[in-house]
Amino acid sequence: MISVATLGSHCALQVLKGAKDEGLKTILVCEKRREKLYRRFQFIDELILVNSFSEILDQRCQSTLEKNNAVMIPHGTLIAQMTSEQIESIKTPIFGNKWILRWESDREMKEKLMREANLPVPKPVTNPKDINNLVIVKRQGAAGGKGYFMAANEQDYNKKRNQLILDGIISKDETLYIQEYAAGVLAYLQFFYSPLKKEVEFFGVDQRHESDIEGLARIPSEQQLKNNKVPSFNVIGNSPLVLRESLLDEVYTMGENFVEASKRLVAPGMNGPFCIEGVYDENAKFTSFEFSARIVAGTNIYMDGSPYYSLLFNEQMSMGKRIAREIKLADTSNQLDMVTT
Ligand code: AMP
Repeated sequence: MISVATLGSHCALQVLKGAKDEGLKTILVCEKRREKLYRRFQFIDELILVNSFSEILDQRCQSTLEKNNAVMIPHGTLIAQMTSEQIESIKTPIFGNKWILRWESDREMKEKLMREANLPVPKPVTNPKDINNLVIVKRQGAAGGKGYFMAANEQDYNKKRNQLILDGIISKDETLYIQEYAAGVLAYLQFFYSPLKKEVEFFGVDQRHESDIEGLARIPSEQQLKNNKVPSFNVIGNSPLVLRESLLDEVYTMGENFVEASKRLVAPGMNGPFCIEGVYDENAKFTSFEFSARIVAGTNIYMDGSPYYSLLFNEQMSMGKRIAREIKLADTSNQLDMVTT
């Protein structure tokens, strides 16, 4: 029997509940400090306790996973806590495409794939001297928006960068990525591509709530101006959003273009869940500043099914359950190779 495994963080509860609902065995690689939390949930069949997630590369973990015929579901914590080399060396089959995760972590590769997919990306600024409009300055990797800042010109950039170095949030030799700030309504578009059905499904939309940039909007401008602290974009949680129906056609096109571009640049392509992240401006024009090549935590808001999946399935279908369904289908038709790498 196949089992589904994941790391204890991010969207582990949703993923393992979905797998259990599909009748699969569930395994959680769990840091000892979080054991108490995860023992609360009956749908987790087995815990592999570790001191840190990198132990997933150790023989002990790998052989337990192998013994259980496990498929590993990658999520944001895997990317944040392990290097691309480490992820690629995991022996357990990874759901989706583990090779594309490198394209998510590396800013330049990310931009290349987004351009190949024809996504409208904000203009990158290669030299701080060229900052003429409001920009957002980002760190490498899935930093979750921590240490990001906005700058209006070179002087502003240097002042804030120095402040963050002093505060120990970024290091002196860290290469920062600068891009134009896109103002509008945030929308994180969640998809699933089924390599078995060869079809892109649109699952839902979420918005991220980021601290303390959002807190800033709650205080009057007088206090804002007196505040010298550099605001951050640290994700705290997510909330649901539905789009104007007239925007849906373009959303599907973006998802399909992304899947096609991924097939060209990083075989076997964008299989499984992914997310295109950006903003809609006043003309409902979408600008995309980011993608995630795996399940995003914003899908956690739809554990009982999403508005768009209720149009596709006559049952409650979470993203975790959708993943498990694909694994089950692949397994029963001897096509596990199609859905894992
Ligand atoms: P990212 O790591 O690229 O997902 O960025 C983290 C957060 O920063 C996003 O959720 C947005 O709130 C904000 N952000 C990133 N890039 C831009 C941009 N070009 N324009 C406006 N906001 C952005």
